Amino acid sequence: MNVDELRQRLTFYRDLGVKDLYKMNPKPAAEPQPEVILPSIAPAGDTLARILEDIGDCRRCRLCEQRGKIVFGSGNEQSRLVFVGEGPGADEDAQGFPFVGRAGQLLTQMIENTASKEGIPIRRPDVYICNVVKCRPPENRTPLPDEMEICGEFLFRQLMAIRPKAICALGSTAAKALLATKDGVTRLRGHWHKWRDIPVIVTYHPSYLLRPYNQNAKREAWEDLKKVLHFVYD
Ligand code: SF4
Repeated sequence: MNVDELRQRLTFYRDLGVKDLYKMNPKPAAEPQPEVILPSIAPAGDTLARILEDIGDCRRCRLCEQRGKIVFGSGNEQSRLVFVGEGPGADEDAQGFPFVGRAGQLLTQMIENTASKEGIPIRRPDVYICNVVKCRPPENRTPLPDEMEICGEFLFRQLMAIRPKAICALGSTAAKALLATKDGVTRLRGHWHKWRDIPVIVTYHPSYLLRPYNQNAKREAWEDLKKVLHFVYD
C-alpha cells in the first residue's frame, strides 16, 4: 500500500468514527526444531535381518555419539522366549553382543541352572536376548525417554518378527518400555502382564542382582525365571 492509499484508508476509518488504530507485531518465527528421523514402520513379513538393515549406521538418537558397536541382539531367532534388558554396557559396546559382561554371565547361569534343575532342556543360545536401546548410554546411565521411544521401535519390530510365546523383561527400563508403566520391578514382578498379546514376566536386571546385599531379590528372580520357563517350555 502506498502513502496515498494509506491516507484514503485512514480518512475512511475517520469518517466511520474510528479514532484509534493499533499496529499488530508479526508473530515470531517458530524456533527451528531438530529433525528426528523415526524408524520406519514394520513392513509386512518383517525379519530380524531386515530390521538390522534398517538400523544401518543408525544416528536417530544421541546415543550414537559415543557408541562403539550397535548391539542388536543374539540367540535363536525363532525362540519361544525373549529376554529384554536395558541397554549395552562397556563389554557389550566393545563386542557388539548383549549380556556378555558380568551381568550377562549371571544371566546365562540363571537361565541354564534353572532350566537344568527344572528338567527343561534349553541353554542360553536357545533363547533370544536384546535390549531396549541398541547403543550404550554414556557412563551406563539410564536411557532417556526419547531414546527409549525412538529405539524402542526397533525392539517392537524384533518382538513382532520373533513372536515369542513369552517375554521376560529384565529391570524397570525394559518394563517401562514394554508395559508403559511407572511401577518398579518390586511391584510388577510375580504377575503376568502383556505386551500386545504376548505374556510378559518382569524380574530384576542381573546387574542389580550382582550387588552383594540383594539376596532376596536373587531368590525372587529365580522364582520368576522358573515361572516363565515352565510357561514356555512345559
Ligand atoms: S540407540 Fe537406537 S535409535 Fe539411538 S542411535 Fe542407537 S540404534 Fe539408533
